Amino acid sequence: MKVAIIGTGYVGLPTGVGLAELGNDVTCIDREVSKIEALRAGRLTIFEDGLEDLFKKNVASGKLKFTTSMKEGVETADLVIIAVGTPPHPVTKEADMKYIHAAATELAEYLHGYTVVANKSTVPVGTGDVVEGLIRKKNPTADFDVVSLPEFLREGFAVHDFFSPDRVVVGANTKRAADLIRELYKPFEGKTKMLFVKRRSSETIKYASNAFLAIKIHYINEMANFCEKAGADVYEVAQGMGLDSRIGNKFLNPGPGYGGSCFPKDTNAMAYMGRTNGVNLSLIEAAIKGNDARKVEMAGRILETVKNIPDAKIAVWGLAFKNGTDDCRESPAVQIVAELIKNNVKIKAFDPKAMENARKIFGDKIYYAGNTLEAAKGADVLAILTEWHDFAKVDLDEVKKVMHTPNIVDLRNMLNPDEAREKGFNYQCIGSI
Ligand code: NAD
Repeated sequence: MKVAIIGTGYVGLPTGVGLAELGNDVTCIDREVSKIEALRAGRLTIFEDGLEDLFKKNVASGKLKFTTSMKEGVETADLVIIAVGTPPHPVTKEADMKYIHAAATELAEYLHGYTVVANKSTVPVGTGDVVEGLIRKKNPTADFDVVSLPEFLREGFAVHDFFSPDRVVVGANTKRAADLIRELYKPFEGKTKMLFVKRRSSETIKYASNAFLAIKIHYINEMANFCEKAGADVYEVAQGMGLDSRIGNKFLNPGPGYGGSCFPKDTNAMAYMGRTNGVNLSLIEAAIKGNDARKVEMAGRILETVKNIPDAKIAVWGLAFKNGTDDCRESPAVQIVAELIKNNVKIKAFDPKAMENARKIFGDKIYYAGNTLEAAKGADVLAILTEWHDFAKVDLDEVKKVMHTPNIVDLRNMLNPDEAREKGFNYQCIGSI
């Protein structure tokens, strides 16, 4: 199948590489010239485990191409996938649809023969109708269908999730469009659950799923707060809860709050849709409020450890919103660091992958270290903010030697509390004392 993908970011690029690997002819389109130039020169523009080899292989075989030209990608395509960003509107927090509207309008004139246009971006309910209208207005004779094809990949696992998805949800209002998508996913037949639903249901499934997961994280974070006061251990509590198959054991890890490019924006967008539809989505509203407050509270815990130290220095391990990615969008680590900066402390930070993105956010407001020990050197507290596995492997004796005051606030519960305390650290984690 000939596939054009509009938007070559965290979703569009792994999707393009994956579809090429399945044998499709894929053209990835992006309006950012530097991105396309880098990809054409063989340089990946995002970090995703396992992506590089597949990318190089499919570029070499000619199955995967990159262009800034909408015409070049769309005019021969059987399927056009829209994977542009839908960031939160700065004021209302609803999903900002300007990139979707622009993409739909720009692609319309190049449609040639029957084409399915699939919305892979996370879009408000009814966007399929809007995209259909925009294309129809620009190109009244075009032969096309618009489907909703929500993306459920997890950053850091994008390649794994592409080839082994939990489920594929397709919102198609015509059989012809559903059949084309079924053909695309033929290699997954028998291995993955495919659900064909109404377009508006599919659009809702994506938001309802992300909001549910965000609420689950917020719930376990509140339980962690409770355990700290009540003398329980949140891991034991989560373990006991997770053994109930109705609850499940995933997403019961307490931490500094949910973040990333999806949960915060999608919960806000869903809450906005609730309000505009006159529906009380109180659980989602509460999770948003509680999660925002949590980042400030976490910064407070770090500051509390150095409140009596003049000119305190804070070491930060981790800036990405989670391990396995360089993505700092809505990263709890970034929000906590921003909170710390307000208190005029000196911060030296290290992240194995996200330094470049962090530099774009903080500029010279913080110091950047080349490794974990360099970040810890001279610090009065070490704050662990992202769950990179390597952080758990660092020799704590070495850390203690280079730190000025041995405080650790481990907001990802990476270290063994007993070991850290035995080695002389004043150690705090989440959800137990
Ligand atoms: P991104 O910002 O990484 O990538 C979007 C790309 O689209 C950018 O490179 C931008 O230059 C390009 N673009 C915008 N308008 C364009 C146009 N008119 N023509 C060509 N290119 C254009 O965004 P992302 O993280 O890949 O997210 C894309 C969508 O997928 C969002 O709606 C997001 O909510 C959803 N989603 C993201 C994830 C995730 O983990 N990142 C997971 C599931 C769903």
